[in-house]
Amino acid sequence: MTRSVVIAGAGIGGLTAALALAQRGFEVSILEQAAQLEAIGAGIQLSPNASRVLIGLGLADRLAPHLVVPSALNVMSARSGRVLAHALLGEAATRRYGAPYWAIHRGDLHTELHAAIDAMPQVSLRLGARIDDFTVGDNGVMVRGTANAQAIAARGDTFVAADGLWSAMRERLGHRAAPRFARHSAWRALVPTDALPPALRALSVNLWLGPDAHLIHYPVRGGDLINIVAIVRDQWRETGWNAIGERAEIVDRFAAGRWHASARELIGAASAWQKWALYDCHPLDRWGAGPVTLLGDAAHPTLPYLAQGAAMAIEDAAVLAASLAKSPEDVSAALRRYESLRQNRTARTQNAARRNGAIYHMGSATALLRTLALAVMGGGGLLRHYDWLYRWQPD
Ligand SMILES: Cc1cc2nc3c(=O)[nH]c(=O)nc-3n(C[C@H](O)[C@H](O)[C@H](O)COP(=O)(O)OP(=O)(O)OC[C@H]3O[C@@H](n4cnc5c(N)ncnc54)[C@H](O)[C@@H]3O)c2cc1C
Repeated sequence: MTRSVVIAGAGIGGLTAALALAQRGFEVSILEQAAQLEAIGAGIQLSPNASRVLIGLGLADRLAPHLVVPSALNVMSARSGRVLAHALLGEAATRRYGAPYWAIHRGDLHTELHAAIDAMPQVSLRLGARIDDFTVGDNGVMVRGTANAQAIAARGDTFVAADGLWSAMRERLGHRAAPRFARHSAWRALVPTDALPPALRALSVNLWLGPDAHLIHYPVRGGDLINIVAIVRDQWRETGWNAIGERAEIVDRFAAGRWHASARELIGAASAWQKWALYDCHPLDRWGAGPVTLLGDAAHPTLPYLAQGAAMAIEDAAVLAASLAKSPEDVSAALRRYESLRQNRTARTQNAARRNGAIYHMGSATALLRTLALAVMGGGGLLRHYDWLYRWQPD
């Protein structure tokens, strides 16, 4: 008998879960509140733990034209521009982890996931459909919401809420605490690669550490664009992903004296900025009940300091599909198994990301200790430090 799954949210997590479930024979219905799936966002890093899942789902060829395989990770001092650590990625990462380290534009990943599920007749996607509630009965889960100001309903044997950081379904499952504001905002911009000097065009992930701020840049769109993300201390806390950032404000935050000329040149090269306020949650002790569960940011909102938000949602998708396929006749048991396989790992990732924020934004006295620690570790040690993260494989 075909089993049915309703998914709230067609973000990276919802779409990957839909694909993984459909490939295992489930019938999937996705309800997404946005009226259109647009190529929104900027860069996302897909470390080997995530690329491994996407390759397993057969997406390598689809993604290939959009991908960049960064050759290295460089960590730089904001003030001096000195390289504090240099770790090889590229072939070295593939050899070490058995899967590649990729960088991609979120919009390209989203578009290709959408195209992949579009090609699967057992997946339906309804846009402009906001889910507001669900009830569990003998006959599975009845999900209710609104579309075009009309009430809608969908039934599934399983309901997966992949409705993001501000998940209404997480609250509906009894988690009343709102995400906590991290007192920082992330500013993103894309600059054509050929508009930058050669030193800023390198096919690498570059991380500049400064007091109360850091800067990350790496190529996306097959190398045509450089994705810049500047994270600064901020009291601005509006929700949403796409607020306009004032160029003059971010240029000012990367002032001469505190930031090296190359970092300032990069910031100055971008004309259009968007920003989002950073939030995370304490790890949740319970993700679901009966035939209902959470996935992705809805379950474990994570600060971007470890570049793992999308990766964790992708991992969740693989584990969820495998678990449901293992015992489709006992959905509750399958979902509790999925949750128990995911909770420790995602909690560790949330905590490690938060800790990275404190390390990245150290003031000058403690930054000296950080510099020493990085010198002792070297690039190899830095990567070894993340073996637990990148070596992960779905069961
Ligand atoms: C528009 C957008 C732009 C982003 N840009 C970046 C970026 O530039 N860099 C970065 O690192 N991360 C970005 N992110 C976050 C990143 O994609 C996620 O952290 C990560 O991929 C985890 O994905 P997710 O599927 O769990 O959540 P999300 O990607 O946030 O997806 C959640 C989806 O659920 C939908 N939704 C929410 N509530 C409901 C509801 N009640 N009913 C139906 N649908 C609902 C949302 O519209 C959204 O499409 C962005 C997210 C979004 C939504």
